[in-house]
Amino acid sequence: MKKKRAAAKEVYTLADLKDWHDADPPVRLGVFGDPVEHSLSPQMQNAALKHCKIEMQYARFHISPGELREAIELIRKLEFVGVNLTIPHKIAAVGLLDAAEENVKRIGAANVIKIDGGKMHGFNTDGYGFARAIREEFSVDLRDLRVMILGAGGAARAIALQCAKENSERLVIVNRSFENAQKLADELRDFFAGPKVLGPVPRLQAVPLEEAAIRFQIANVDLVVNATPVGLNRGDPSPIPARLLAPHLMIYDTIYSAERTPFVSAAIEAGARATNGLSMLLHQGALAFEILFQREAPIEVMRNAIR
Ligand code: NAP
Repeated sequence: MKKKRAAAKEVYTLADLKDWHDADPPVRLGVFGDPVEHSLSPQMQNAALKHCKIEMQYARFHISPGELREAIELIRKLEFVGVNLTIPHKIAAVGLLDAAEENVKRIGAANVIKIDGGKMHGFNTDGYGFARAIREEFSVDLRDLRVMILGAGGAARAIALQCAKENSERLVIVNRSFENAQKLADELRDFFAGPKVLGPVPRLQAVPLEEAAIRFQIANVDLVVNATPVGLNRGDPSPIPARLLAPHLMIYDTIYSAERTPFVSAAIEAGARATNGLSMLLHQGALAFEILFQREAPIEVMRNAIR
């Protein structure tokens, strides 16, 4: 008779990790977040595991900020392959790593931990996932674009570094706390030292989240990226008003909770091309799979799982 398989729980907690009852196939991967209930990573990664005939499951773990250190210690003991990190753990996790790739050090945030020989190795796949998403959505490379990023937090820092490494024509960082935009711009200054764009506007600029400043800049950018959480909650406005948007723009909202986020709706209203963050989620997740398993990710299987 075929053995009955033990299903994984919908959401695990720290208490579950302390008194671990494994599922079948065993849970050896997951996402740590707070909140985590709405993460699409389990359905995407489980589809990939199944397709690749890897006998493991990927689960959700509701871990609060105060629990992160202990949770990481427990998955090391339980011999997990690795975990993804989402809000609010990406920055705090950096201090708990044994080793970190260059990206993690520069961004100051990790979204993947791989456990190798009992050691915690940190990676950040958000920037690379973003670059792949832009190529796929708009058939253009970051090096050919003048980019405006709204936000200067973890996602914005990963995206800004990717633009810098790919030598984007311009980068404008807009943030509610202007000093955070300025700090990020200062960190990237060396990448933009070369005279790529001939014209009156600097290649790298930090700008406050104010209508007049944004209006001036928007005439000199091609792509506007929302890397703030504005739009995540029902009733949120667009992160910048529709009246500032124009048909020449490409709009990328890193938020993927709704197909038409407030920013995407505003962009469509303005006649611009616009898309939400599902493609970034897909590509950062595919790269995480490749880091964890050292094999090509089944992209189309993963894409279908989150469509
Ligand atoms: P974070 O580190 O907390 O940074 C948030 C940024 O947004 C900060 O610059 C903050 O400005 C700004 N901000 C917060 N609330 C704001 C408000 N009410 N008005 C204007 N600006 C505000 O967050 P994160 O990890 O970067 O995440 C940002 C977004 O990216 C989230 O919505 C997340 O869903 C999305 N994301 C998507 C993917 C994907 O794969 N699609 C991957 C990663 C992240 P201050 O400096 O002034 O605080």
